Amino acid sequence: MVENQTTTSKPTRRTGEARRVRTRALVLPQSLSVQHLAELTGQNPIDVIKQLMRNGIMASMNQVIDYKVATLVTNAFGIPTTLAEPAAKPAVTVAKSAPEDESKLSPRPPVVTILGHVDHGKTALLDAIRQTKVADQEVGGITQHIGAYQVEYKGHTVTFLDTPGHEAFTAIRARGSRATDIAVLVVAADDGIMPQTVEAIDHAKAAGVPIVVAINKMDLPGADPERVKRQLSERDLLVEDWGGDVISVELSARTGEGLDDLLENILVVAELAELKANPDNPATGVIIESKLDRKRGPSATLLVQDGTLRVGDYMVAGNVFGRVRAIADEQGKPLKSVSPGMPAEVMGFGSLPVAGDHVKVVPDDRTARSMADAQDKLRTAQKAQARALTLEEVINQIDAGDVKELKLVLKADVQGSVEAVQQSLEGLTAETAKVRILHAGSGAITESDVLLASASGAIVIGFTIGAETSAERLANRMGVEIRHYDIIYQLIDDMQQALNGMLEPVITETLVGRAEIREVYPSRRGITIAGCRVTEGRITRGGSVRVLRDGKILHDSVIASLRHFREEVNEITNGSDCGVVVQGYNDFEEGDILEVIRQDRGRS
Ligand code: GDP
Repeated sequence: MVENQTTTSKPTRRTGEARRVRTRALVLPQSLSVQHLAELTGQNPIDVIKQLMRNGIMASMNQVIDYKVATLVTNAFGIPTTLAEPAAKPAVTVAKSAPEDESKLSPRPPVVTILGHVDHGKTALLDAIRQTKVADQEVGGITQHIGAYQVEYKGHTVTFLDTPGHEAFTAIRARGSRATDIAVLVVAADDGIMPQTVEAIDHAKAAGVPIVVAINKMDLPGADPERVKRQLSERDLLVEDWGGDVISVELSARTGEGLDDLLENILVVAELAELKANPDNPATGVIIESKLDRKRGPSATLLVQDGTLRVGDYMVAGNVFGRVRAIADEQGKPLKSVSPGMPAEVMGFGSLPVAGDHVKVVPDDRTARSMADAQDKLRTAQKAQARALTLEEVINQIDAGDVKELKLVLKADVQGSVEAVQQSLEGLTAETAKVRILHAGSGAITESDVLLASASGAIVIGFTIGAETSAERLANRMGVEIRHYDIIYQLIDDMQQALNGMLEPVITETLVGRAEIREVYPSRRGITIAGCRVTEGRITRGGSVRVLRDGKILHDSVIASLRHFREEVNEITNGSDCGVVVQGYNDFEEGDILEVIRQDRGRS
């Protein structure tokens, strides 16, 4: 009974002993050399390099690769892995190598994004602010849309991002950057809180960005700001009148009433946030948008977050690099430099950078080129892997104590089920972790849900509801896991188990082959070789193997080396003899059994 299959979500019994089917994952560091990876996995380095090449990555023995890239290799060899340290922040986030010298910091303008439900007046508000307050507005100057603008108010500058809505906001976060300091939540006074208002609140909260509420359309007869405030309180957003600390401003984008009040309060929140930067640093920032002009080539709106960007600087944005050829403000006026908190249109990129990509000024062309190149390889690898965050990875992180929250985006068919499921999930606890629902709502899973999950390291749950095709595609591309459930107990049960760090996957196990150890040869380098006779199926190099003695599992690992006489081979079939090295195990005894197992994992 060689192709002996057991399908189970519980420990299996095959030899009378209860076994956990989850093999222990190989712990890998955040980065390691190709050679080191070969040693850890017990693979021939050449095979590791070949596997990388198959994934489009050319790497030498000493080249250092990232954990994600390493998993391309381990996945191909069927070796489960886990990351040793807490996941490092993506390379694209602003990395500060040394603590800043306080004396060099100076205040920078806050960056504001306008969020809210459709038709509640986000665009109208942005237009109204721009028309009345834009700094340096030249008579007859043609304002171009560059995705951001600045206004002056009482001697202070405020930067507004000109692409309203939480999708754009979260798309930038999903690329690992944070552009916004303050979210202005627009709610129409005559309409109150609507589904996208709730989404916007959840997206802003997930990002940890302070919210200022703008109760708009106060000029309309049906305006009812008190109702808006009450509805906000039901969403845990307590405005000052309600005893909370969230600032709310009543205004009208149409008449302009209340705009000053809004700007005033944005400055108050900015003050509290103590936004500072060091203009002397080499610039870092984020791409807000980019476009290809037939005459001028690629141009991008860049928000400088720290340092000063100057014409002539070498820059990298994700996998794109270039040298700043020209800088312009939103009136198209040329600038020589851009200071922190300021947006500007920048020419000189070799190709189009993507909105949300982190930008960094580097000393020279070579550094720019090689950083862009490294980022490009990483992205190709991530694309090939098409899997960034699964429940299993979250569980591993909970297991390792790296995360304390199981973050979820929950969608259900009707509001009634949303509330029921949400309540049950929020009641779940475990010693080390708890559930945090970033957003819950009714209706199909949308792209916005997937973006939020991707930006926040969350899993999307669809309870008796599917995903829009575009959302499914995006989830595949971004590697976000969408889990579907129809039965509430199953959902609750899975999440509870995940919190306990032990959701058992459904594993189909197949015995590939069995061998009996006839002789044990200690080698010179402290590695013991097991001299075996294959008694069933076949023994494969790199295969998952268990060492058994009297039916008990002594070790779970992989076959690091397989020899027939002196020759390294890929497999040995029934009836033949071989020499086997099992990774990390040397204590063989005659009569021990080796079982090579293939595990196919899936989830119910
Ligand atoms: P968005 O979808 O949130 O960007 O909403 P818009 O800015 O496009 O506004 C939607 C509609 O509401 C437009 O017809 C605006 O003219 C109107 N609107 C926006 N602000 C106000 C306001 O303060 N008062 C009134 N009466 N109408 C407004």
